[in-house]
Amino acid sequence: MKQQKAYKYRFYPTEEQVQILAKTFGCCRYVYNWALRERTHAYYQRGERLSYEATAQRLTELKKQEAYAWLNEVSSVPLQQSLRHLDRGFRNFFEGRTDYPTFKKKHGDQAATYMATAFKWDGKTLTLAKMDQPLSMVWSRCLPDGATPSRVTVSKDPVGRYFVSLLVEEEITPLQVTPKMVGLDLGLKSMVITSDGHTHGNPKFFAKEEKKLARAQRKLSKKKQGSKNRAKARQKVANIHARIAERRRDYQHKLSTTIIRENQVVCVESLQVKYMVQNHCLAKAISDVGWGEFVRQLEYKARWYGRTLVKIDKFYPSSKRCHDCGHILDSLSLDIRHWVCPECGVAHDRDINAAKNVLAAGLAVSAFGEAVRPGRAKARPGKTR
Ligand SMILES: [Zn+2]
Repeated sequence: MKQQKAYKYRFYPTEEQVQILAKTFGCCRYVYNWALRERTHAYYQRGERLSYEATAQRLTELKKQEAYAWLNEVSSVPLQQSLRHLDRGFRNFFEGRTDYPTFKKKHGDQAATYMATAFKWDGKTLTLAKMDQPLSMVWSRCLPDGATPSRVTVSKDPVGRYFVSLLVEEEITPLQVTPKMVGLDLGLKSMVITSDGHTHGNPKFFAKEEKKLARAQRKLSKKKQGSKNRAKARQKVANIHARIAERRRDYQHKLSTTIIRENQVVCVESLQVKYMVQNHCLAKAISDVGWGEFVRQLEYKARWYGRTLVKIDKFYPSSKRCHDCGHILDSLSLDIRHWVCPECGVAHDRDINAAKNVLAAGLAVSAFGEAVRPGRAKARPGKTR
């Protein structure tokens, strides 16, 4: 089975490449924000949804104006890709998956995407449009033999490190079938609780880093605008952000791989993170554990390796239902970790009981398709790492 897979490497640009990339990032950001304004006006003033093609057409017009001639100094491909990227953002918004797209900031992550027409790949080196020399990459892992990237994304994080991500098509062999099945519940104390009673991860993992982050942010807010010390303080905040994000991503990838390897069927609740994050006491814990991203990883890894991921409707009362007798409590407040079923007298650990219910409901879904309404399980072609 062929799957798209992304390989990400760090690289060290030459002085010239730094200049070209800075210009390209700036133009991509400008085009993205410009198109976001165009689409927002069209949507709120005329109720019109601009398509990707419409924005691309307007960009062509814009570039003909003298005042915007500087947009022609960089490769046009990444600019078009910025419009595509925004278009995906809008589509996700209209389909209820994400919030309205927001403006890209100068101090955030910078990125530019090149399609095959805008880079050269000779099997060993990668040269981007407008550049004379190939990128000096650190080959931290091997690309599959004979792989040819169809798309590459260059990025610079707020800490100032450069990365390039190569999208390649790869043959992935499904794993051997196993009889094991598991239900997962999102816990607040541990990240993931499985129906067989294992707990994985702990948001406290990040608590220390978060304290450091808060301290650094406080310091930053006290520094004078435009001062050197402010720039330094901002760099420090960015460093901590990058470290937290990296550790979280690493952790999620390891865990999702392990769970998919070990189980044939994995059942999860398709929690709508968006709604839960509005509830403030839960907000931090949930954004911490990044459930949405975790489920996304399970989804594409399941597809790669021939496993089944079943998503359960969010209204399924997995916590309040006694797994042993099916009795459903009227309410169960968040601080209650253990409870005894008033019907059958079985003592439950809140999270393990919920995970068992998720597994049972998931199996019902995959067997009958109707017993529990499954969440939107739209398979989207893999965007991965
Ligand atoms: Zn019971």
